[in-house]
Amino acid sequence: MNSASVDSLVPLSLLEAVRNVDSPIEDFEAELVGDLRNKRLGLSETVYMQIRRFSEAVRRSQRSSHEEAAAIAKLIGRRPDAEAVFRAAGRYLAAEAYRTISPISRRLMLVLPSLMSRPITLRHMRRLSRRYCNGHVSRVGTSVYLEVPQSVTLDSAPRSVGCTYYESGLKELLRLLVNSVGAVEHYRCAARSEGTCSWRAEWRPSHNPSE
Ligand SMILES: [Zn+2]
Repeated sequence: MNSASVDSLVPLSLLEAVRNVDSPIEDFEAELVGDLRNKRLGLSETVYMQIRRFSEAVRRSQRSSHEEAAAIAKLIGRRPDAEAVFRAAGRYLAAEAYRTISPISRRLMLVLPSLMSRPITLRHMRRLSRRYCNGHVSRVGTSVYLEVPQSVTLDSAPRSVGCTYYESGLKELLRLLVNSVGAVEHYRCAARSEGTCSWRAEWRPSHNPSE
């Protein structure tokens, strides 16, 4: 088994996504389906307590176990809406990671010419992916590569659905950092026996379409 640790924001992001997706926007609908409503409330109580625990861990900069995060991912993987939850979790992780960057740096990355902003952006991406994904970021030309050797969502659901967590996180991070709107491709997947899960993003700042 895997004895590695993850930043507590990882399990927290998964749980926050569950809470967000399950939050009763459709209260009226839920009311009509009493059984489903009770199930949801039961789930919410557990989720709520876990959210409190991991929020506390995040505040104290305590890491969590890889197994625990992977177990939460497995529970999400059983849901019919697993992909939507994983994508929401990835966006949450990226947004929270982005908030750790100083406002001045954030602004610089958006306004500087890309020749100057790219090294800064890459440095932040490397740091954030190391901290929050135990991953590596590299760049070749206009492509940015993210490699995650110890994915917490691997095998959590069939057909590499769990991998959408990192895909959506990378996409959101690039959007926040440089307003990039390029596609993200999961070009190598451990679930397909292709080695380490890896993603390639096209680095395409929308404020500078000539690049
Ligand atoms: Zn994968």
